[in-house]
Amino acid sequence: MNSEIDPNKVVTDYDLLKRNYQFIPDSKNADTEYQKKLFRDYALVDLRHYDKGKLGVRWRVRNDVLNSKGERVCGNVHCQNCFNLKTYEVNFEYKEQETKKNALIKVTLCKPCSQKLKFYHQQKRKRREEKKQLNLQQSQQILTQKLLIDNLIKSDKKKQKKKKKSKRKHKKSKEKEKEKEKRRRKKKRKKDKKKKRKEEFEKAKLQFKEKKVSSRKRKNYEQQTKHEDEN
Ligand SMILES: [Zn+2]
Repeated sequence: MNSEIDPNKVVTDYDLLKRNYQFIPDSKNADTEYQKKLFRDYALVDLRHYDKGKLGVRWRVRNDVLNSKGERVCGNVHCQNCFNLKTYEVNFEYKEQETKKNALIKVTLCKPCSQKLKFYHQQKRKRREEKKQLNLQQSQQILTQKLLIDNLIKSDKKKQKKKKKSKRKHKKSKEKEKEKEKRRRKKKRKKDKKKKRKEEFEKAKLQFKEKKVSSRKRKNYEQQTKHEDEN
């Protein structure tokens, strides 16, 4: 039976290395032939992807120590500069067997290489500062807008209150006017009634007077005719 070989299942040297390699070996792996050949005083770095914040690190081997690589020659594996060297202690963060680890390593670099080493973190810090500044500006903008809206609402409320007050005042004054008018009419009615009563009284008085006069006249006339008859 021919079993097909799945290329994904082929185990390469790189797979083995990935599975077993330890940058800082535990006690089980510390005494292996490979680990014994490493010098862990200084580390060498690969800075080709410095702009992405990626750093390749390895320990020195015998040849490096003999050539003073990473000690009197720049510790960047692609640089042979021997001047203006400075030793840095760097916190190296890495992932090994799906586990995040970090180690403090000592690395000697020339000035241009040290700038490359710091580049990513400096950019990151710069971006963080810019973001912080932007956030601050945005929050200030939001605050200003909020204040503006609050003021608008306040002034609108004030206006409405004023309008209501004036409306109330107007209504009150109208009611007062109405009341006044009512009182005036009542007074007039009273006055008219009084006047009418007075007029009626005067008329009655006059009528009575006229009646009195006519009755006296009649009496006089009767007396006169009586007197004439007697004569
Ligand atoms: Zn260098």
